[in-house]
Amino acid sequence: MAIVIEQDQGITSDADERIGLECPYCGMYAHMEPQSVPDAASLLRDKPKHVGLVYKCDACDEPVFLRFAVREYTDNRVELYRNFVELERPKERFAFSYLPKHTEVLFREALSCYSGGNFNAFASMCRRSTISAFDALGEGGKLRAFEEVMVAQEIAGIDDESFAPIKSVLFGSGQHEDLPLLTHAQAGILLEVLKDMFYQCFVRRGKLTRAIKVRRFFVSENNDNLVSA
Ligand SMILES: [Zn+2]
Repeated sequence: MAIVIEQDQGITSDADERIGLECPYCGMYAHMEPQSVPDAASLLRDKPKHVGLVYKCDACDEPVFLRFAVREYTDNRVELYRNFVELERPKERFAFSYLPKHTEVLFREALSCYSGGNFNAFASMCRRSTISAFDALGEGGKLRAFEEVMVAQEIAGIDDESFAPIKSVLFGSGQHEDLPLLTHAQAGILLEVLKDMFYQCFVRRGKLTRAIKVRRFFVSENNDNLVSA
């Protein structure tokens, strides 16, 4: 079933073929309702190859812009292919505040490259992020991070051959031009492995020390109260 824009009728498509995707604003997997549809008459006159529609996210009501290729123009209708390009992709999230400042800046840019589908730019920024992180971790930090990543590989059950490019990006010491070219799938693994590595090296420690500090604070407050009572 195709999506059709008809003169005088607007957009039509089967109710059970509604568009669902991960919303770039709220992050929910939600249905999208057409909100702003181009005028059929002007499309039939200009016959563009692509058509842009604004949808509304069912979960958060934010507008989501999608671009469709036109399949066919006939007398009074425009038929679109069901495949579309998302103009805004969901942002990758991370507890950035726990990272060293320099690493945070680089890793934010790395994730922005990933969201934009620039997977080799992403790999380069991952390398810069890890170098900065190892500096921040100090003596033995790189080795500790390496051990965390080995554990992650084992937990995720990734074979050595598939894991080699990931390891090379994270721990290789060569030039940027020596970085391997990554596919979308490999970049996805790199993303999850690096998030896990940063979690283990920075976020976990930060959360735990903060939580223990809070516990200690309340215990000493209570003790003070007991003493004064
Ligand atoms: Zn939403």
